[in-house]
Amino acid sequence: MSKPDRPQDIDPNWGTATLGVRAGEMRSEFGEHSAAIHATSSFVFESAEAAAKRFSGEEPGLIYSRFTNPTVQGFERKLAAMEGGDQAVATASGMSAILSLLLATLRAGDHLVAAKGLFGSTTGLLNNIISRFDIAITYVAPSDTDAWRQAVQPNTRLFMVESPTNPLCELADIAALAQIARDVGVLLAVDNCFCTPALQQPLALGAHVVLHSATKFLDGQGRAVGGAVVGDSKLVGEDVFGIIRTAGPCMSPFNAWVFLKGLETLDVRMRAHCQRAEQVAGWLAEQPAVDRVYYTGLSTHPQHALACRQQSGHGAIVAFDLKGGQAAAFNLINATRLFSITANLGDVRSTITHPPTTTHYRIGPELRAAAGIQDGLVRLSIGLEDAGDLIADLQRGL
Ligand SMILES: *Cc1c(COP(=O)(O)O)cnc(C)c1O
Repeated sequence: MSKPDRPQDIDPNWGTATLGVRAGEMRSEFGEHSAAIHATSSFVFESAEAAAKRFSGEEPGLIYSRFTNPTVQGFERKLAAMEGGDQAVATASGMSAILSLLLATLRAGDHLVAAKGLFGSTTGLLNNIISRFDIAITYVAPSDTDAWRQAVQPNTRLFMVESPTNPLCELADIAALAQIARDVGVLLAVDNCFCTPALQQPLALGAHVVLHSATKFLDGQGRAVGGAVVGDSKLVGEDVFGIIRTAGPCMSPFNAWVFLKGLETLDVRMRAHCQRAEQVAGWLAEQPAVDRVYYTGLSTHPQHALACRQQSGHGAIVAFDLKGGQAAAFNLINATRLFSITANLGDVRSTITHPPTTTHYRIGPELRAAAGIQDGLVRLSIGLEDAGDLIADLQRGL
């Protein structure tokens, strides 16, 4: 096959856990049970005629690992099946997944509507790089559905949203945005990094395309950087695939193998992350030093009902404001011993970070204020340690 085609080996009635374990498996002639790593840059042809046919697309088949590699295709098929998409295209990082989608869908003179509070590098990519190519960007609050309709212009091509957002766990009503996108003829892209297909399936809610940083929960153990775009066979299978094939931000076979092994345990890991995060968030909400907890699993979260409708779990990311501002946040972070002080998330190891001085530093004080990111904000990515040990670690610093 010259490009990843629709997975043939799945039953549409399987659940996400079964798809994670079973979908997209491509055994070699050796019959290996666990996926092999095909560490090769190119593939050989039986004859000059066969080579010509493969390059012309007359015969499907593997050519070169920038755009066709069986291990990478195994990851793509598994993820596509789990997200309910026709095809996935793997990329070198989450950022290159986003860049590839933008390159595949936009041209000079176009306009896109993006959610306020997108991942910091995504905002940077839009403001500092994409904007240089005569592409206009309007930011609206992800939860303000009417504002998305009002932001549409005749040249709008794309809606870009993350739900929940990082770090404040604000939700977009994906089905409502998808309806607007269809009404006005634009594409809705959802960055599903925080929920993963185990907790939320944007394509089933009407989105056109899903973006992933595989670096986070898809791997789940902090080992590799990668990303993916998932959607239909035209937009993803042809347009995004064409960008990867020609521009080259591709995933290595080794990383693809790490991620496809990660997908096998994704469902059970995500449920364990959620269960621990709910306990930590509930405990934080009762602490006098804590001003406010941002976690959709709490019934006090303004979008708790939407979260219960749209997601099958509330995720691993818990953020909270400390009454004592930045000094209190630094004190807490420095007092922990179990939490890793790192901006990464989606790991078995719980992490703690101060977004205003790390992940959201570069966007500047004005955009931070507009996004509601205060100086006392702390973000946790709850891993797979025992919840009691995590709570005891936080207690030390409060
Ligand atoms: C980390 C992240 C990205 C970028 O992914 P990389 O793999 O680091 O390039 C994009 N979106 C979200 C929501 C993220 O958390």
